[in-house]
Amino acid sequence: MTTELLDCVVIGGGPAGSTTAALVAEQGRSTLLLERDSFPRFHIGESLMPETYWTLERLGVADRVRSGCFVKKNGVQFVNHEGKESKPFYFREADDRDCAETLHVQRDEFDRMLFENAAAKGATCWDRTRVLDVKFSGEGPHTVEYRRDGGEVESVRARVVVDATGQQAMIASRMQTKKVDPDLKKAAIWGYFKNAKRNGPGEAEVTCILHTTSKQCWFWYIPLSNGTVSIGVVGDNEYLLKGRGTPAEIFAEERAQCIGLRARMEHAELVGEWHVAKEFSYKCHQVAGDGWVLVGDAYGFIDPIYSSGVFLALKSGEMAADAIVAGLKKDDVSRAQLESWTGEFNEGVVWIRKLVDAFYTHEFSFGDFMKNFPAHRNNLTDLLVGKVFDGEPGRMFTDMDPWIESLKESGDSMAMKS
Ligand SMILES: Cc1cc2nc3c(=O)[nH]c(=O)nc-3n(C[C@H](O)[C@H](O)[C@H](O)COP(=O)(O)OP(=O)(O)OC[C@H]3O[C@@H](n4cnc5c(N)ncnc54)[C@H](O)[C@@H]3O)c2cc1C
Repeated sequence: MTTELLDCVVIGGGPAGSTTAALVAEQGRSTLLLERDSFPRFHIGESLMPETYWTLERLGVADRVRSGCFVKKNGVQFVNHEGKESKPFYFREADDRDCAETLHVQRDEFDRMLFENAAAKGATCWDRTRVLDVKFSGEGPHTVEYRRDGGEVESVRARVVVDATGQQAMIASRMQTKKVDPDLKKAAIWGYFKNAKRNGPGEAEVTCILHTTSKQCWFWYIPLSNGTVSIGVVGDNEYLLKGRGTPAEIFAEERAQCIGLRARMEHAELVGEWHVAKEFSYKCHQVAGDGWVLVGDAYGFIDPIYSSGVFLALKSGEMAADAIVAGLKKDDVSRAQLESWTGEFNEGVVWIRKLVDAFYTHEFSFGDFMKNFPAHRNNLTDLLVGKVFDGEPGRMFTDMDPWIESLKESGDSMAMKS
């Protein structure tokens, strides 16, 4: 039996998969994008980083996305465990261009735009199509088995298979190369609330990050254009979920401990159901092989704290697409070629990871760090914008690293005294 041979089959129609498919298809390469759900479909991940702009621009959708119905996001604000509100880190203070502002998006609509864009660029895009298996055959081509609309199992061969299945991480899960991050075993409970406090219609809003009094959890607060606010609590998996009742009960207990939420949620009412996610931080230790490559969450996810997920999904999709197109052109889809983008990518991700580790250092607070090192305000804003792939993203850490070490040491000596 012969099966059709395509240049590229992408599994998963989230931001990473739609980006890869669009950019490979745009170069005239036969591309099939397969998504198991039916668009538009719900997804978490509404707060974007401003640096998403450049990939959206390259995809040709920046204007469409920006003129859509989404809420403008103009900064990030932290509220500490005592309810003290930081001065918002407004993106425009560090960069006055329009691209410095970004959006809070409903992902059903945002992801649909990207999926449709991949089709407009020449990819064949099928939703309601679940990939069941990838049968690897040496250096390739590999065979992708799928079921469309609940029909018969069908298959297609691909010179390059792209895994963009998000947290499913289909290929890495099967190869057992997906490793949960032992330092970030977190869980989240969230919902969508009407009558939660927000700015007036049409006004830009910040993403707000609020600590609870014990600092064991933090909340995100993301206003959306449908009138609701996405509000979620994140904490250690063991602490948040073990033996504590229903998601509603746990959320209520943590909410009562968050001073910054009192006024914001005074009249808030849940719309729809509670959502729970856990162990979402991991990395896959092999990003590519001969004829296959991972992108987006299927490669790894750090933590939701700085809203870097969609940005890194778009960026990895873009970088992998360039490696695929170059490889197809010179008839080299080897592992070395398909992972050639990851050095640069991982170097950028390191800065986001360092910022995540700082946030989870119990003694650390951005407010105190800014008071002591006001010259780093724009450097921190640059990182919150997502400027990690060029310039000097690490310059703030020459002061932040020793500052955190000294806080940890004084925390240790206090603990020893008591
Ligand atoms: C609690 C939490 C909060 C978050 N908040 C934010 C935020 O505010 N901002 C932000 O930028 N990011 C956030 N993220 C991260 C964000 O959700 C992801 O990083 C982002 O969606 C990754 O995009 P992706 O394209 O790699 O994967 P996804 O968006 O997950 O897309 C993967 C797609 O693959 C499809 N798929 C899976 N298996 C198959 C299969 N077998 N066959 C066919 N299709 C398949 C799925 O249906 C899905 O549509 C958050 C994550 C969590 C856990």
